[in-house]
Amino acid sequence: MEDEGKTLVIGGGAAGYFTAITAAEINPSADIRIVEAGKKILRKVKISGGGRCNLTHHCFDPKELSLRYPRGPRELRGAFHHWQPLDTIKWFEQRGVETKTEDDGRMFPKSNSSQTVIDCLTETARKAGIKTLRENRLLNIEKLHDKWKLTLAGGETLIANRVCLALGSLKSSGLEESLSKLGHKIHPSMPSLFSFNLKAHPLRDLAGISVQNATVLNHPLGKKQNGPILITHRGLSGPAVLRASAWDAENLAKLNYRFETEINWLGQMKPEDLKNQLNDFRKKIPTQRTSQNPFPELPKRLWIKILDLISIPLETTWAHLSKQHSRNLVGNLLSFRAQVDGKTTNKDEFVTCGGICLKEVDFKTMESKIHPGLFFAGECLNLDGITGGFNFQAAWTTGRIAGQSMAKSYPIETSS
Ligand SMILES: Cc1cc2nc3c(=O)[nH]c(=O)nc-3n(C[C@H](O)[C@H](O)[C@H](O)COP(=O)(O)OP(=O)(O)OC[C@H]3O[C@@H](n4cnc5c(N)ncnc54)[C@H](O)[C@@H]3O)c2cc1C
Repeated sequence: MEDEGKTLVIGGGAAGYFTAITAAEINPSADIRIVEAGKKILRKVKISGGGRCNLTHHCFDPKELSLRYPRGPRELRGAFHHWQPLDTIKWFEQRGVETKTEDDGRMFPKSNSSQTVIDCLTETARKAGIKTLRENRLLNIEKLHDKWKLTLAGGETLIANRVCLALGSLKSSGLEESLSKLGHKIHPSMPSLFSFNLKAHPLRDLAGISVQNATVLNHPLGKKQNGPILITHRGLSGPAVLRASAWDAENLAKLNYRFETEINWLGQMKPEDLKNQLNDFRKKIPTQRTSQNPFPELPKRLWIKILDLISIPLETTWAHLSKQHSRNLVGNLLSFRAQVDGKTTNKDEFVTCGGICLKEVDFKTMESKIHPGLFFAGECLNLDGITGGFNFQAAWTTGRIAGQSMAKSYPIETSS
């Protein structure tokens, strides 16, 4: 059966819903349908942010905001001038979803429930007359003169004037081949935001301990990341590690997740400053045992572990600390090196990087530069943010722009 749905959005996630709603609100007479492979729509919104949905971030400067995206910062910077977190918050608040900001800048619905966001999106879509076709997986998309022919898993075909692909991870969409045939370049999918498994985990018995201000640097070629680190049963996690995994995602995939990571447990402290501090301890607290942790920012068990790893007896006083032990302390506190052997995907927030090459998409319209009438939004593009609500913001922004241009670039149409 052939169906003449004129504006199709493929994917019932955050980006797909935002695209469809925007298009429908601008062009109320348009026939807009969302085609979703699964039984459930907005599945990731539901589980996001531990069920609370960290829907955006309290950062309202497009330039500053764009720096939180390891892939796509340049393209998103322009797009954020068009639709940014302030717009997102206003949009949701106008539709009854009040938001709140946590100390670290993450923004959630005041209800603390992702269902509030889902209810808002589905109710707004219903009011706008958007139809959702669930359990309809798109298998193939091809050009048919100036239209699009879409083949669904059940064999049904849909004909559309314009299509927005909001597929989430391209790899799981099954459409990589179809898109390559259309001439679109695809960056290979790979995970971003993961924890590091440590080989012969030297800190395993400290699992559960976190250090609030530490720095992670992956070798070779990593980008330094500062923030909390959590020691887990498998290795290292926490915001600084997840951020480092996102920034270095492509490089770490090439290394098959076997690399060396270096931790500064004292944040940004420099060796010279620490050497001076150890000398001060010698002078000011000569009879105090080194086992008494002198660094309030460092958990005591981690301090004792570091003394143990470099064989400093617990009864050693600061006056008796040898030069070699001092050097080892500086090395292990500021450049603790560990071999990473594999990764663990973070359950709370997981994104893939890779996807449609950004050069082939006009970020003013989200339209393909190769094929007019084909639009993209959300995670299927080769862009991704660090944790903190940035990935949903990218979905809202790209969805908003795609929806607007889909609605505006064609004459008002009727669904008959
Ligand atoms: C556990 C978890 C927690 C997260 N928490 C947060 C958070 O708190 N804050 C944040 O900013 N980000 C979070 N993220 C990331 C965020 O969920 C994604 O960045 C966001 O969902 C991307 O939206 P999207 O619409 O592009 O893709 P998706 O939400 O993945 O939606 C894509 C949709 O397309 C459908 N689809 C795919 N292929 C086809 C096909 N061939 N035919 C038809 N339909 C298809 C899929 O079934 C899916 O419903 C989290 C991710 C996970 C996994």
